[in-house]
Amino acid sequence: MTIETAAYGVIWDFDGTLVDTMPTHFSAWQKFMAEQRQDFTEAHFWATSGKSAEEILQAYFTDASPAELARLGDLKNSYYREEAEGRGIIFAPGAVDLLKALQQAGIQQAIGSGTPRKNLELAYRQHPWLSAYFQAVVVAGDTPNSKPDPEVFLLAARKMELAPRRCLVIEDGLLGIEAARRAGMPSIAVINENQSEAEFLKCGATRVVKSLQELDVTGIIKLIEA
Ligand SMILES: [Mg+2]
Repeated sequence: MTIETAAYGVIWDFDGTLVDTMPTHFSAWQKFMAEQRQDFTEAHFWATSGKSAEEILQAYFTDASPAELARLGDLKNSYYREEAEGRGIIFAPGAVDLLKALQQAGIQQAIGSGTPRKNLELAYRQHPWLSAYFQAVVVAGDTPNSKPDPEVFLLAARKMELAPRRCLVIEDGLLGIEAARRAGMPSIAVINENQSEAEFLKCGATRVVKSLQELDVTGIIKLIEA
């Protein structure tokens, strides 16, 4: 690790960015909401991407206590993990190559996610080498508020002992891009066919790509230094 690049950090969103878990999450939400006799649309799913399950559920169960919301959120996430155990957690195209390239360049890496720790631990169990790539991890419950609150990313930066402007966020959610902007960090949005490039740029994304395969270390350093 050189002194120069160790002074940079890349903060990864987890679901939909590093790992291709969004279809599994959507399927878990559909199962859960059908049981609860609630309507849950795909548009709503994408619009709330980045929020914790508890926060998403607040809008549906307005009278529920925090403990009840936590119980319901745990139930939804247990459906996710049940399905992810069977399906296997797969990485987004280009994710593993980029993890390796950033590590080889001596750039610090962190996870900044609204996912519960148990979901991350499941990925670690399936891919035991994964945790070694991260100098810091921030997941649901580590900060009082989730994205678009910037604290998720600010805490990741503090854990890496880096100033926010030394960090870059990679995200697939609008709320995460807003959180990065509010944290004073450049961001790269990785969008899918359900998402609009214009909307992500308007939200403050520094760059928008369709795949992590479009990214390289030199380009990422340039965005941080810009
Ligand atoms: Mg995401």
